Amino acid sequence: KKKGRGCYEVFSEAMGDILRQRRVVEADLRKALEKGDELQLFYQPIYTNSGVMTGAEALLRWNHPVHGGMSPVFLIAIAEEAGMIMQLGDWILREACRMTANLNLLWISVNVSAMQLRDEHFADRCLAIINEMQVAPERIQIEVTETVLIENRDLAVATFKKLRASGVRVAIDDFGTGYSSMSYLQNYPVDSLKIDRSFIQALSDNEEGRAIVGAMVEMARALKLNVVAEGVETVDQRDMLSAMGCGTMQGYLFSRPLKAHQFVQFSQEETAL
Ligand code: C2E
Ligand code: CA
Ligand code: CA
Ligand code: CA
Repeated sequence: KKKGRGCYEVFSEAMGDILRQRRVVEADLRKALEKGDELQLFYQPIYTNSGVMTGAEALLRWNHPVHGGMSPVFLIAIAEEAGMIMQLGDWILREACRMTANLNLLWISVNVSAMQLRDEHFADRCLAIINEMQVAPERIQIEVTETVLIENRDLAVATFKKLRASGVRVAIDDFGTGYSSMSYLQNYPVDSLKIDRSFIQALSDNEEGRAIVGAMVEMARALKLNVVAEGVETVDQRDMLSAMGCGTMQGYLFSRPLKAHQFVQFSQEETAL
């Protein structure tokens, strides 16, 4: 009994620390969002398997003396809990729209959290921003994870239909890590599947690893969806994916996520080739 109680105290103290830390981060994030100068988007180029850059994924970073290295996953979770995700999501989309003006034809892919998609006005909200920023909707793609498909299928379908009717593209992110089955994807209004990095890493491991990725590429083809391999780090992986018919790739082999100005420069050099 005594020991149990001691454990509980240690546990609650640690929990208290985490909660306090969270509140500090939350308050700082609120300030950062209001001022809008500490938050940044980095851009990671996306290539066709013939080596042409077609677009880039926008990735959130926080340029903060203490929280600077914080994972965007954690940042997004805090924003969701603190009720700031819609405001942050709008900021991210606006920033991505602004970037397209610097780029010739390239599109930008923006991550959208599951909570943002629970808003039934999400599509209108996105389209209003894209319109306000005077960006062609074809130059914006949103990335959503599989959980969104399962959580509220009807709402997700309606949202994606509306976005796609205006030209915005939709990609399923981290494909293969959720629990969606092939039947979920059938007739689902999306454009691309992004195969999660964990499967790409397993490519070099063994025959099974290759068979799984091969099956995913085949399935995407059968469903007439684009397929993107995430986290491609080696020439070996790139060559195997190319041989399987994977049309698009992204990863450190091609480029790390770049700061906005670096990305603009990089894209100008690439498209000049
Ligand atoms: P994600 O959407 O799956 O993004 C891909 C992550 O893999 C990024 O991590 C990217 O930097 C990393 N990555 C890209 N290529 C490679 C590679 O070759 N090897 C390895 N090891 N990693 C690679 P990052 O930027 O830390 O983002 C992590 C996650 O945070 C994202 O996963 C996404 O779920 C979330 N996230 C990032 N930015 C945003 C955002 O603006 N909004 C929302 N809602 N979520 C975001
Ligand atoms: Ca993503
Ligand atoms: Ca991903
Ligand atoms: Ca991920």
